[in-house]
Amino acid sequence: MKFRTLAIHSGNHPLEHQGAVMTPIYQTSTFAFRGVNRPGPFEYSRSANPTRQVLETCLASLEGGTAGFAFATGMAAETTVLMMFEAGDTVLVHNDLYGGTHRLFERVLRGKGITARYVDLRAAGDAAFTPDVKAVWIESPTNPLMNLVDLEAVAAMAHRHGAIAICDNTFLTPYFQRPLDLGVDVVVHSTTKYINGHSDVVGGAVVVKNPALAEKIGFLQNAMGTCAGPQDCFLVLRGIKTLAVRMEEHNRNALEIARWLSGHPQVAAVLHPGLETHPQHALARKQMRGYGGTFSFRLTGGQDAVFRMLDNVRLFTVAESLGGVESLIEHPVTMTHASLPAEVLERMGITPDLIRISVGIEDLEDLLADLDAALAMV
Ligand SMILES: *Cc1c(COP(=O)(O)O)cnc(C)c1O
Repeated sequence: MKFRTLAIHSGNHPLEHQGAVMTPIYQTSTFAFRGVNRPGPFEYSRSANPTRQVLETCLASLEGGTAGFAFATGMAAETTVLMMFEAGDTVLVHNDLYGGTHRLFERVLRGKGITARYVDLRAAGDAAFTPDVKAVWIESPTNPLMNLVDLEAVAAMAHRHGAIAICDNTFLTPYFQRPLDLGVDVVVHSTTKYINGHSDVVGGAVVVKNPALAEKIGFLQNAMGTCAGPQDCFLVLRGIKTLAVRMEEHNRNALEIARWLSGHPQVAAVLHPGLETHPQHALARKQMRGYGGTFSFRLTGGQDAVFRMLDNVRLFTVAESLGGVESLIEHPVTMTHASLPAEVLERMGITPDLIRISVGIEDLEDLLADLDAALAMV
């Protein structure tokens, strides 16, 4: 079956749930045995829960994997994946990425002996894969600079050196990019963003194809207790049914706004992979089916101009996060990426003139009018 059908039906079997057309919330910690030594299909909700299992099946089918796992947050998903590694292992990390992932590597894992080595995966060659490298961590597009990594090429390079490739697919969702189809081994998500799409849940997911990896992640999810609760799984399942239609609208609105901003005199640059001016536009067309709804731009007036603009939007909400139906706007240097040291921000190019927007699915004319009025105050 195709994507939109899977998003609505995958994993959902009403006749197994009293005929309920929508997956019920199994708000129970434990399940009755049928007798001594005769457990039923579920025993304890940390190990498996029926609501979570429907979501996990659905996520796996949308990403083209064989096993899906739902976690309490995106960071819980990332932590669980990275616990596959041992002290002494190195992960090659693309040098511009989500601030929380950088913090996890630097302030949690480094002290435990798992080392992140930052490289530019747009340029890195085989020499980067020294014997201690067990994995490569890719975000594409990157947050907030919208740089792309060639997933197929980097996954193949990792495999030549006995390492696995992990991709954070939060920005595009499987609707626009399917990393497993390109050879990536592990897909990670913050379902908080587009997959749930309604800004009312924090959640995470992991999808894999390889049975040995599925076994490891499943073991860690249960052993570490990082799983999502049934209420959150229900909400993500509700959100996921409209993923395809929402992504189409996000994509269309964001591309129109990016084009409009490109022609605005207060705007110094627009970082959007769907624009012909993006240096990796050809790669975007090759490995993505769309561009999503989040992108960044720079103002000619620097940080002062940014603060004026953010103080004057009415419809856009100044907030962290992205991927909801409502439009958000933020300043990475003082908000989402504030946990990164100043020299790291500078090295990455996350400068004070940068604004990131998450374009919602409101009417385009209203969004443009709001941005236009706010820029007029700069
Ligand atoms: C938000 C986000 C995360 C972290 O997810 P949480 O659900 O907030 O824990 C990881 N990666 C990316 C790209 C994100 O945007």
